[in-house]
Amino acid sequence: MSHDTPQSPPAAPDPRAHLSSPATRSTLRIQNQLIAAAREYLTSAGFTEMLPPVIGPVTDPGSRGSKQVDIDFYGHRYKLMTSAILYKQASLLAFDKIFCIAPNVRLEPLETTDTDRHLAEFHQLDVEVAGADRERITGLLEDLVVHMVRATRDALPADFELLGRDVDAFTELLRGSFGRRTHADAVAELRAVGHDQNPDAEIDWTGEALLSSKAARPFFVTDYPKGSRGFYDRESRTEPGVLRNFDLIAPEGYGELCSGSERTNDYAQIVTRMRETGENPQKYRWYLDLVREGVPASAGFGIGVERLTRYVAGRDAVWQANAFPKLPGVVSP
Ligand code: AMP
Ligand code: MG
Repeated sequence: MSHDTPQSPPAAPDPRAHLSSPATRSTLRIQNQLIAAAREYLTSAGFTEMLPPVIGPVTDPGSRGSKQVDIDFYGHRYKLMTSAILYKQASLLAFDKIFCIAPNVRLEPLETTDTDRHLAEFHQLDVEVAGADRERITGLLEDLVVHMVRATRDALPADFELLGRDVDAFTELLRGSFGRRTHADAVAELRAVGHDQNPDAEIDWTGEALLSSKAARPFFVTDYPKGSRGFYDRESRTEPGVLRNFDLIAPEGYGELCSGSERTNDYAQIVTRMRETGENPQKYRWYLDLVREGVPASAGFGIGVERLTRYVAGRDAVWQANAFPKLPGVVSP
């Protein structure tokens, strides 16, 4: 990966120059092929694609300091979706295996403008499976990513060539069987190289970049501590305080591609976790009403579509993988 300064931020890219540039065209063709391959894989594995809601009375409480956007819904305060998580769990009342490609709006803090990894509007490929545990869902994620990358590499050699992306970079990935380490091990590894990673929090941006740069293949970080994640990540029955969740980190310094977990579906536990994380359960009425009457146990994940595209296309920054990029704080179309 090149660490050159991205082409233009913090100024907004000129839409005509951006959309008509050969590099953008190749990047968006790669994105299109990744999505087509995901649909093909998931549909043939029995998944139903759902259309994701864009607004609702409540959304994912968010993380890492991003703010939600309110809208006026006939006198009621609604939110733009920061993630589809609540609807993914609810959708399992209709089908056991679902996916969607959902737009997310998060007003990320201004200091994320130069991480090369943050947009204020982005998309997730969201997958949820009733009855799945972490082993099954990470296995599915591995197979899905391998299929998406292989199909894209095989279909678009001219675009990889134009972008100067050497497809040999995917040799390890295409073997499947990604690396795995616990959050505690990742923290120890970072502290050993002098990075002051907080053991009770998400891996910070610098820590994530450090681990990712050293890796030759994608790897999972598992078992994040309670408090670092939302109320919907299930707590381990055998290790209290540890969550049955995971992130998938790309090699070559590209950082986090995906987060997922086994879900909490027990009403009392969800309410307790909401209170622990400072959420008011009253706000989540529609969701809690469904949970009280029962939603399936499940596991799932959300892949950042622009993040995955950026990695596969080998671009300098995530905004280059979006046709109409919205960078935090940058006024743009
Ligand atoms: P999260 O729920 O925060 O883990 O988000 C799920 C996935 O969406 C992450 O693993 C990233 O791939 C992607 N993502 C999260 N925030 C952003 C952002 N601000 N810009 C682009 N992609 C993001
Ligand atoms: Mg995450």
